[in-house]
Amino acid sequence: MTDNIVLNKPVSQWVEEFPKLQELIDLKPSTWFNPGVKPTAEALPEVGLTVKDVDDAADRLKRFAPLLVELFPETKVTEGILESPLAAVPDMLDAIAKRYGQELPGQLWTKLDANLPISGSIKARGGIYEVLKHAEDLAIEAGKLTYDDDYRKLATPEMREFFSGYKVAVGSTGNLGLSIGIMSAALGFDASVHMSADARQWKKDKLREHGVHVFEYESDYSVAVAQGRKEAEADPTAYFVDDENSSTLFLGYAVAARRLAGQLETYDVRVDENHPLFVYLPCGVGGGPGGVAFGLKTVFGDNVHCIFAEPTHSPCMYLGVYTGEHNNVCVQDFGIDNLTAADGLAVGRASGFVGRHMEHLLDGFYTIDDDELYRLIAMLDHTSGFDIEPSSSAGFAGPWRVLDNTEYRERMGLTDEKMANATHIAWATGGSMVPREEMASYIAKGSALL
Ligand SMILES: *Cc1c(COP(=O)(O)O)cnc(C)c1O
Repeated sequence: MTDNIVLNKPVSQWVEEFPKLQELIDLKPSTWFNPGVKPTAEALPEVGLTVKDVDDAADRLKRFAPLLVELFPETKVTEGILESPLAAVPDMLDAIAKRYGQELPGQLWTKLDANLPISGSIKARGGIYEVLKHAEDLAIEAGKLTYDDDYRKLATPEMREFFSGYKVAVGSTGNLGLSIGIMSAALGFDASVHMSADARQWKKDKLREHGVHVFEYESDYSVAVAQGRKEAEADPTAYFVDDENSSTLFLGYAVAARRLAGQLETYDVRVDENHPLFVYLPCGVGGGPGGVAFGLKTVFGDNVHCIFAEPTHSPCMYLGVYTGEHNNVCVQDFGIDNLTAADGLAVGRASGFVGRHMEHLLDGFYTIDDDELYRLIAMLDHTSGFDIEPSSSAGFAGPWRVLDNTEYRERMGLTDEKMANATHIAWATGGSMVPREEMASYIAKGSALL
């Protein structure tokens, strides 16, 4: 590679100052535990959002629940609350332990956001929440709704007519577009989704079936986002969902944490000083994992350890936090191509909001190669029958990265005794809506690689 100049410094000098960059540049699986992590009490205020903001988001979702039941019958069984199962995967634990040649003390669970209703991915948390909040803001502003109303009135022909006068736009690698597009269309909004080259055909087809305008670009996520932003700027009736900066999306994701706390309690999984909780979150631009991690920190404080996972070809958050340059740099600056089968994680430049405000709350970052993502998909299917998409399996490698790093465990006081009591959760972020044939091809590919 030529010695590119990035922020006035040649790449060679960056590598000298930040040696792990060489692994990222070489597309080798890499792990970095963050020496800048701070006690939760100290770092939480840096986020600029509070528990009250998460309460507010949870209350808003509750107000909308009856409407969701009406619009999406599959949400009847949870009375309109969009939530996913938590499942233990001991056979997956055994299979990975065998593959990596190391036993894992403690338990392995998975949080199956792949099965979230309406859009089948973690984006059903933040994306749908932001559309609902926008609809509520518009309706209240227009005097057509009060917080105490039955929100089912938002599904009347009169309200659909009202919302049809407004546009919602978003740029996406696929799943955010799916969530925003389906929810916007269901309320009557005029929705546009700007899709990066990574987006799978079935996601575009599905959106068009819902009457959403889908624009396709040959380029990556940043360009799709810029186009969405541009379209909305020119039009006062248009609202742009800004995945790179939105605190609304972030809060929608954050609500997951308190619900997870309830699920852990249900299964008598303890989280305290002697029973640490590790959560491994696949990361694209960072809003989803960032919001969930923020929520987790508000609930579990120092007893939860949040670790982000990215594809070797798209390590944008690792790069940003490790160098401290956040969204001032992108993976392409360092000759990394941002081409990965993990479409939901194919982001070259991380959210500046998440990187800057969450950097002291995140224990670590790692990268994983695409073939390994497929192997983990196949292993999960074989051991548990759970089927997930490539962007979704990155978290399963995480516990073994923790085991591999004594410096990190010693620094954090994670003794062998505590590790024996640990609970590891791999967040399985998407997949239930993948067409069956495509899912079968993922599993076949992973099986062939094993
Ligand atoms: C978008 C997405 C992520 C990551 O969320 P970001 O907010 O982009 O970091 C993870 N998994 C899946 C399946 C996704 O669609």
